[in-house]
Amino acid sequence: MKRRNNRQAELADAIVDPGRRRLLKAAGLGIGSLSLAGTGILASTPARALATNARIVIVGAGAAGLAAANRLSATLDGARITLIDRRERHLYQPGLTLVATGLWKPGQTIDENQRYVPRNVDWIQASVSEFDPDANRVVTDTGDTIDYDYLIVTTGLHVDFDAIEGMSPELIGREGIGCVYDNPEHATRTWEMIDRYTTEGGVGLFTRGPGGIKCAGAPLKVAMLTEDLAQRRGHRDRLEMVYNSPGAGLFSQPDMDQFLKEEFPRRDIAINWHHRLVGIEPEQRRATFATPDGDIRFDYDFIHVVPPMRAPDALGNSPLAWQEGSFADDGNWMEVDRHSMQHPRYPNVFGAGDCVGTPIGKTAASVKAQVPVVVDNLVSVIAGRELTASYNGYTSCPLITSRGQAILVEFDYNLDMVPSFPFISPYREHWVPWIMKDKFLKAAYNAMLRGRV
Ligand SMILES: Cc1cc2nc3c(=O)[nH]c(=O)nc-3n(C[C@H](O)[C@H](O)[C@H](O)COP(=O)(O)OP(=O)(O)OC[C@H]3O[C@@H](n4cnc5c(N)ncnc54)[C@H](O)[C@@H]3O)c2cc1C
Repeated sequence: MKRRNNRQAELADAIVDPGRRRLLKAAGLGIGSLSLAGTGILASTPARALATNARIVIVGAGAAGLAAANRLSATLDGARITLIDRRERHLYQPGLTLVATGLWKPGQTIDENQRYVPRNVDWIQASVSEFDPDANRVVTDTGDTIDYDYLIVTTGLHVDFDAIEGMSPELIGREGIGCVYDNPEHATRTWEMIDRYTTEGGVGLFTRGPGGIKCAGAPLKVAMLTEDLAQRRGHRDRLEMVYNSPGAGLFSQPDMDQFLKEEFPRRDIAINWHHRLVGIEPEQRRATFATPDGDIRFDYDFIHVVPPMRAPDALGNSPLAWQEGSFADDGNWMEVDRHSMQHPRYPNVFGAGDCVGTPIGKTAASVKAQVPVVVDNLVSVIAGRELTASYNGYTSCPLITSRGQAILVEFDYNLDMVPSFPFISPYREHWVPWIMKDKFLKAAYNAMLRGRV
């Protein structure tokens, strides 16, 4: 019965009306910024399945884990593939920004993992509490030990609310506190705060956690969409908006950084550099920022809290994590070769998605580009062939500047723009990236989960 439901859901995802299909086609496979065009890699599923009885464990059934499970199960014949994740709910996280700014309903971001787990993959509903790559096994929090021949780590990341003194997720939606990250409940409560702030006005503080965070564009989008909403409501003069950046820039890609450094002042959003949120006093509506001149306190009416992010503890404390250097200090991220996505010390281990320590790209668009590389290279390891697939650092962000307008930013490890669509400039706002984000990216994302693109 469950399988029939899966099939029906699969068909529902595949059915698009003719208008949508035309735009999807124009957008190159209909993937928008999740397109492989411009990534410098080819998503290759070998024409013939490779026969093997290898035991493959995938830890984490989010965007990367499900995409890897589907691609592998279609590529290998006879492999015993096990997926481990306690979570039953699948969250379409790119939709959370739209929920937090009142443009989407929370239900639009909620799905079920079961719909995407392939038939020939075993799903263990537990969390991995220990990675033991020297013994080729993982241990779950239910006490089970699972041995593997090959491991793919796709655990995503941990949003570290505890790193901000006085902050906890329960505060989101109270005392003017919002946070778009983590789940639709947080995003919904953030919308309640933004709805009130853009009516009543006051001081709004917009923050960003230091180091690697997922979708680094999200804190910027929340600020710009809040500003846009206040304009539309005719209340802009009631808002004093301040963006406190933990570093000296707003965005890693230099052209986009320059654009935003001009755009924010133009929209009367003040910027403070080297201001890192370290504490919050909810009752007083006061936030503390560490700066080169010492701690500075700001009173606020609304604050968008973006905590630091890091690898989940089980991974970050394991031998799989970077042992030294910036990816160890900033987040305990998993060590991989940035091109092959293979672990340099454990060649039977690969990683993809938000958990890996690579210079850029904690986005679903990066997942889209990384997973085919992981699968290709893992199949090569199994077959005893040379690894040939290479990830070029592709990442992408439809940077929404206002309702109806966005800039499709696509770039690689060199921070060079790698636009997929010749008719959309990566340097200016346009309605097409907005339509992609609002209407088409979710279908593209679901196709990625199923390993189709
Ligand atoms: C607000 C917001 C806006 C975004 N906007 C965009 C956008 O516009 N474009 C874009 O491309 N990307 C966007 N992203 C980023 C994108 O959603 C993520 O990069 C992507 O989901 C990462 O996929 P993942 O598989 O690495 O992690 P996830 O999808 O988060 O999945 C990780 C999974 O691992 C599981 N897990 C964790 N620890 C363990 C463990 N120990 N054992 C077993 N399982 C474990 C979790 O339960 C989870 O199911 C956005 C994200 C957010 C939050």
